[in-house]
Amino acid sequence: MFEEYARYIDEGTLRELRQLAKELKGVRVLHVNSTKQGGGVAEILHRMIPLMNELGIETHWEVIKGDIEFFKVTKKIHNLLHMPGRESLSHQDVITYMRQTYENVSHIDTDYYDVVFIHDPQPLGLIVKKRLGQKWVWRCHIDISTPEEEVWKFLEMFVNGYDGSIFHIPEFVREGVQIPAFVIPPSIDPLHDKNVELEEGFVRDVLERFSIDPDKPIVLQVSRFDRLKDPVGVIEAYRIVKRRYDCQLVLAGSFADDDPEGEEVYNEVLEKKGDDEDVFVLNLPPDSHREINAFQRAATVVVQKSIREGFGLVVSEAMWKNKPVVGSNIGGIRRQIINGVTGYLVNSVEGTAFRIKQLLANPEARDTMGKNAHERVRHSFLITRHIKDYLLVIYRLLKS
Ligand code: UDP
Repeated sequence: MFEEYARYIDEGTLRELRQLAKELKGVRVLHVNSTKQGGGVAEILHRMIPLMNELGIETHWEVIKGDIEFFKVTKKIHNLLHMPGRESLSHQDVITYMRQTYENVSHIDTDYYDVVFIHDPQPLGLIVKKRLGQKWVWRCHIDISTPEEEVWKFLEMFVNGYDGSIFHIPEFVREGVQIPAFVIPPSIDPLHDKNVELEEGFVRDVLERFSIDPDKPIVLQVSRFDRLKDPVGVIEAYRIVKRRYDCQLVLAGSFADDDPEGEEVYNEVLEKKGDDEDVFVLNLPPDSHREINAFQRAATVVVQKSIREGFGLVVSEAMWKNKPVVGSNIGGIRRQIINGVTGYLVNSVEGTAFRIKQLLANPEARDTMGKNAHERVRHSFLITRHIKDYLLVIYRLLKS
């Protein structure tokens, strides 16, 4: 399978990958996160695990268990890390988190592995299982630059037990973390169903299946139904655009297993849509990769109006398909979009509407920016680069 990446990256990078993997032969790696489906972390792990194994590094993936109460607490932690809120963690929340952590301690076998990657805060407490000689890495996928301090203090106790941490961008690295921090942005896989090229006929079929007009401009946002993705703000921006341009808005999303708020947000979005027949709020099954791919290819302009964002894989996915993206000037989105070159960075509903209009009006600009966007992803955000970075972290922790 690795050979197939030669179409996108140079031979030297592939050689480097193989060389590194050879140096690490025999190393056993485990990844742990909180969901098999939904969201960027699961998306990456589905692709990365088989590729690491193909490189000869035995790599496994475990998912922690949790009931609705546990995931309510971890969602609260997630939201409070992204942004201080009105209420912090209660004693009961801490008890719920710890109780579930200890249940997971007994059902996930970590002893077999040399290196354990723990993704995000949900499974963070598993560090109590660390045995002598192992290396544990906390892979943080969220923006923790301005957290609720009480919540961070609670998590920091666990974090400082790790041997290393990984953040998407330098701004997310917390001062005061006493362990080595690495900066590694995530990636997309050009060979995933989500990103492979599609026949035009298939793309049209998908649009027809959802009653979307293939001949009317499409503004698209793909994201889980989560307030931090601001789907309601996207509808507000679309309404401003709509006064001037006859276009459609597609909000394609799904619920993640570890997110108890999804349905509530979905209903809020439906309410905001009202009876506008040019707004499509699609709640898709989690394996709708080709459909998402088709929407991204069919889109005239792609939007990512998140309020907070660790990275926002959907931005790179759209850029890979030669789409200019209008994205919030925050977190990982700011890393991907080069303002005015591959798309636009925006700070408000009005700004979003302004840039969408600008792009709808100018096919040449869309074309040029789209090409730039593709190149940017090819250079910086493909899975081959990501795997190489992980191998380097493993090498650094085990061999130097
Ligand atoms: N995704 C999907 N179906 C959906 C919504 C999202 O397959 O209905 C995918 C999307 O294509 C991307 C990932 O889930 O690969 C979302 O990752 P991102 O980093 O953008 O956001 P997260 O959900 O992790 O906050």
